[in-house]
Amino acid sequence: MAKKRLPPWIKSNSLWSPEANELRSLLKGLSLHTVCQEARCPNMGECFSRGTATFLILGDTCTRNCRFCAVNHGSPLPPDPFEPQRVGQAVKKLGLKFAVITSVTRDDLTDGGAHHFAKTVLAIREANPVCLIEVLVPDFQGDAKAIGKVLESSPEVFGHNVETVPRLYPLVRPGADYQRSLSILKFAGNFSNSKTIVKSGFMVGLGETREEIRQLLEDLREAGCKAVTIGQYLRPRIDLLPVSRYYTPEEFQELKEEAYALGFFNVESGPLVRSSYHAERVFQK
Ligand code: SF4
Repeated sequence: MAKKRLPPWIKSNSLWSPEANELRSLLKGLSLHTVCQEARCPNMGECFSRGTATFLILGDTCTRNCRFCAVNHGSPLPPDPFEPQRVGQAVKKLGLKFAVITSVTRDDLTDGGAHHFAKTVLAIREANPVCLIEVLVPDFQGDAKAIGKVLESSPEVFGHNVETVPRLYPLVRPGADYQRSLSILKFAGNFSNSKTIVKSGFMVGLGETREEIRQLLEDLREAGCKAVTIGQYLRPRIDLLPVSRYYTPEEFQELKEEAYALGFFNVESGPLVRSSYHAERVFQK
């Protein structure tokens, strides 16, 4: 299949300001990973300049092998017990107002890393009580006890991405399950006395139809999602899935309007939108 030329609207927001460079060197100094750097996110410069970053905890090696993801796969190292404190330190040092915590999938851990997530949220609270926190979690193999552990730490936003439409799961997300992901979002939405906002995200350009996207948006609303991100799949490495097509900015605008019409109250939809892009906006509504 001939390599598709990037359309003119796909260009990186690489605004490398002094703040962005300070953030990058601080992360290095504290030996912290960000999904921004691991996944080569096109918005890194812009987000770093705005003082937001998505911390990747639990190491940079995943036990799954999604065909759209550039993260390392294999046998991860044991979690670093001091990592939650280091994330707290970084958030404090940077004076972040909004921090996103995500991780690779750790099927090798009994709780999938849920305890480590909760410790990281609490470490940030201690270090910088005014910082709002979003967790973007793996599926913990649908383990309600593990998901409850994370929700008990009361993050402001609980995110879990469905990534694509159910028909494409075997190709795009082997090892994941669409209904399991929906049930995790529903569980979070019904979690006792939780004020946590439930959020999900997916990519387009992997071969899905508009009808399938519509059904996915309805499923997310039905599962209690209030916020959603919709972005263009971009192949991060030649051995990963090819892009089936590039959606135009106009189509992303249509999807945005469709999602708002379904009752989402925060929708980020655009060619370069990623799960944590403008994540803090959910609170500006
Ligand atoms: S589970 Fe997450 S980190 Fe692991 S391969 Fe899939 S997308 Fe990448």
